[in-house]
Amino acid sequence: MHDVDKIIAEIDRAQDEIVALTCDLVRIPTVNPPGEFYDDCARLLGDRLAGFGFDVDYIDADGRPEHTAAFPRVNVIGHRGRRGAGAGPVVHLNGHIDVVPAGDGWTVDPFAAVVREGRIYGRGTCDMKAGIAAAVFAAEAIRRAGVTTPGAIEISGTVDEESGGFAGVAHLAEIGRIKRGRTDYVIIPEPLNVDRICVGHRGVYWFELTTRGRTAHGSMPFLGVSAIDGMNEAIAAIRRELEPILITRATAMPVVPDGARHATININAIDGGQPIDGIQTPCVADRCRAVFDRRFLIEEGFASAKDEIVAVVRRALASMTGIDHEIRDLMVVEPVMTPRDSPVVTAVDAAIRRVLATNARLVASPGTYDHKHVARIAGIPHCIAYGPGELELAHQPDEYCRVDHLVAATKVMALATLDLLRGVN
Ligand SMILES: [Zn+2]
Repeated sequence: MHDVDKIIAEIDRAQDEIVALTCDLVRIPTVNPPGEFYDDCARLLGDRLAGFGFDVDYIDADGRPEHTAAFPRVNVIGHRGRRGAGAGPVVHLNGHIDVVPAGDGWTVDPFAAVVREGRIYGRGTCDMKAGIAAAVFAAEAIRRAGVTTPGAIEISGTVDEESGGFAGVAHLAEIGRIKRGRTDYVIIPEPLNVDRICVGHRGVYWFELTTRGRTAHGSMPFLGVSAIDGMNEAIAAIRRELEPILITRATAMPVVPDGARHATININAIDGGQPIDGIQTPCVADRCRAVFDRRFLIEEGFASAKDEIVAVVRRALASMTGIDHEIRDLMVVEPVMTPRDSPVVTAVDAAIRRVLATNARLVASPGTYDHKHVARIAGIPHCIAYGPGELELAHQPDEYCRVDHLVAATKVMALATLDLLRGVN
């Protein structure tokens, strides 16, 4: 029997164990915000990795303000294989252990991990605890099959991806635990569908626009200048002048769904005048703030995306006497894209063809994920997202992952890891 067949047989034999590990992880409600039970989840994963022959380290996000006694940010990382120069490549499989709040609309308990009709239900099944279980058993199947390779496999469970990943992958990259020269290939099993390889994402620019006017008695609004009117004009100009241009721009990156191939802008939040739930007094609003989410294309670049917004808002408000405004950057994430001829793309592509007998589709994510830290801070060019679960089910009520997809993704990750360790690309 060939190594590949042995590994596939081990994964088929381990199906119930893979499902059970997914369920165990889902039953720890690692809800973010605020970041609950990270320690318990990291220990569960670490114990499992230790049992499967990994050296395990727990790495707190020391120095990060969100790492508190009430909500400690605990990451876990396991290493199995050789170390040091000449030992061979290091393949790193990284999953985030946090999940978004369950929200309303569930027909099952979101943290019970109910298995029914070939699906595992629960918050975090698809995004992305099934992916973590797949990573663990991809590595374990190689071991159980008795297949030896050069290099090493690392598996990490990291915190806070849903809130930016700063105490998670970014922290591991900053302290050099994940970095170019030490880590060769990174696979992040986010739920991008079992036959798709995600090579990157668009850029993100979050900014806060503040307008300021002059307050007056609400019975004589003509004596004041409404900051809300100013904001209204700025938003109208963005809708009127900017949006028609953004929709005409499309990236060459294979972003899914189709609508996300364009540049977009969204208003995340708005707040003006008095607190709306407070006791009201008759006042003209002297202040209004809104937070915008501009997704920019690799072809646009951040500087031009920002310049364009600044110009539109300035023009819109120029004729409004008594209105001042200010734009403040909240977050900038540059677009990332792994080249299509990267060995990690080639290896996963070949494994998908082998396991699923179909051609893989290269996609880019509509939203950002931890790839940005791997690329920007760790400096590793060879990173993709591939894992079980359907993208559209992430963050939804009745989130689930199909068991057959979980098993297939485990096989794909195992075979791709084997190829990368052996350097057959
Ligand atoms: Zn995710």
